[in-house]
Amino acid sequence: MNANDYIERLKAREIKPTAIRLLIFKAMANQEEAFSLSSLEDLLDTVDKSTLSRTITLFHKKKLIHSIDDGSGSIKYSVCSPGCNCSINDLHIHFTCTKCKRTFCLTHIAIPKVQLPPGFVVQNENFVMKGLCNLCSKIAT
Ligand SMILES: [Zn+2]
Ligand SMILES: [Zn+2]
Repeated sequence: MNANDYIERLKAREIKPTAIRLLIFKAMANQEEAFSLSSLEDLLDTVDKSTLSRTITLFHKKKLIHSIDDGSGSIKYSVCSPGCNCSINDLHIHFTCTKCKRTFCLTHIAIPKVQLPPGFVVQNENFVMKGLCNLCSKIAT
């Protein structure tokens, strides 16, 4: 993405592209794996912590990023694909590596459809697989 792409991505989610928001979004978009608030704090140590936390909340509310509960105890986030509306049909599988502790979006793998008993209405899905990532599995063998 170039500078203009970042601005357009924020505008598409009705977020005013201020300099600080662009800085934070750029840092997020360049992450290969899902990030937590504390990992972003480490990465952007010049940014005020409450600004960072408020920006994450805003980005999440506007569906620029989605949250992942990978069972690590801290909520992780990842940038949504441009067309994502975070609806059930947009959700994908996440993978947490038990060795390097990184969590990845497997954006091309949709969550399998599950037949629920009558009367059960799904509102959200959190599908997290655990194991070794492609790098750690190489080291293990
Ligand atoms: Zn790993
Ligand atoms: Zn994801």
